[in-house]
This record gives sequence, C-alpha cells and structure tokens, in this order.
Amino acid sequence: MVIAIDGPAGAGKSTVARSLAEALEFTYLDSGAMYRCVALTCLEWGADPSSSGEATSTAESIEIGFDEGEVLIDGVPVTDEIRTPEVTEAASQVSVHPGVREAMVAEQRRLIETAPYVAEGRDIGTVVAPDSPLKVFLTASPEARAERRAAETGQDVTEVLAAQEDRDRRDTEREHGALYAADDAVTIDSTGKTADEVVAEIAALARDRGLA
Ligand code: C5P
Repeated sequence: MVIAIDGPAGAGKSTVARSLAEALEFTYLDSGAMYRCVALTCLEWGADPSSSGEATSTAESIEIGFDEGEVLIDGVPVTDEIRTPEVTEAASQVSVHPGVREAMVAEQRRLIETAPYVAEGRDIGTVVAPDSPLKVFLTASPEARAERRAAETGQDVTEVLAAQEDRDRRDTEREHGALYAADDAVTIDSTGKTADEVVAEIAALARDRGLA
C-alpha cells in the first residue's frame, strides 16, 4: 500500500514525504533519486542522457538500493553525488525515455508491495500506483519552489528559476509519466505553509481514510 505524493520540483515533497513516513511508521520512497541514479551513471560511463538507447541500457544495467537514508548504486553510496546541478539536469533528460521509466516503475511497484510506503515523485498516483488509497498533489508557486531549491543548493534564485522552468516543461510535456494531478488526488498548495503543517494535513487525511 502506498500514499502517493506527486508534484513539481521544490514543492516540498521530499521533506513532507519523509516526515509523513516517519510519523506513520511507513517506509519512504524517493522515486526521483532513482532517476538521479540513472543520470549519475550515464555521466560516469560517458553515456548520453538524452539518448533513449544509451540511457535505457544504463538504467537496465544498474541496481538501485536504499539503506538507512543512503541511496546506493550497485551497493555503493551516492547520496550526495546525485544532488549536484549537473545530475539534476541529466535526471530531467533521462526521465523522458519510456525505457528508463519502464525500468524504474517496475522497481517502484515491486518495492511498494513489500510494506506500507509513502512514495514521492511525478507519476506515483497516475502510473506507478493508480489504486493508491491516498494521492496528494503537492504544489507551490514557482518563486517559492525556486527559493527552496536555492536555499538547499546555495545557487542563485534567478538561475534556479530559469532551470526549473525548463524542467517543469519536460515534466509536464513528456509523453510517458507526465506530471499531472490524478483525478482523485487532493491538491495541497504549500506556498506559505510549513512542512509540519502540510504533514499534519496529510496525516489527518490518512487517518480519516483508515490508513493509519
Ligand atoms: O524529484 P527530483 O527532482 O529528485 O527528481 C529528479 C528527476 O526525476 C526530475 O527531473 C523528474 O522529472 C524525474 N522524476 C520522474 N518521475 C518520478 C520522479 C522524478 O520523472 N516519479
């Protein structure tokens, strides 16, 4: 069983999904980290992230793992390496390829069957787990999202905002796994709200629906 939290970059999904999982004693799944692992491996192997064939065979050749807050590629921790601006850009490129998505979605479905999960991403409620009993579409104004990302990475807000627009376009316009709110999703706008407030809101929904 999975609580799905989808939305654009910088809406606060990671912070919210992580603390919600902790509050409900569910397992947290960061699906974006998986696309980042494919991107990092492409860059390390000299494969072209924008080539469907190269990115797909890279995705199919690696084993992505999660262990006590660490993200692993073939058993090696890459938790910090997958957060650089270069990997962020390449992750946005690899995630448009249907072959990459197929490999990631299969692994995500396998994981969420093993325990109660809170999973965050772009297509959890629409593709990975359309039967999820609680889907949240978490959003915020573009400026608020860019400010959050800039605070995390130390980059300039204007730069982040420009790169974010490109990634938003790729997220919403790609043919497979495009970002949109499922019909039965609850939309929450986190602009001006603290992470704790959003977590409390979702936890209340989970309790109302008998999930926790
Ligand atoms: O959420 P995060 O920024 O870590 O995601 C990294 C990249 O992976 C983004 O470009 C996003 O488009 C992609 N992604 C995706 N599907 C998901 C999660 C992330 O395509 N379920």
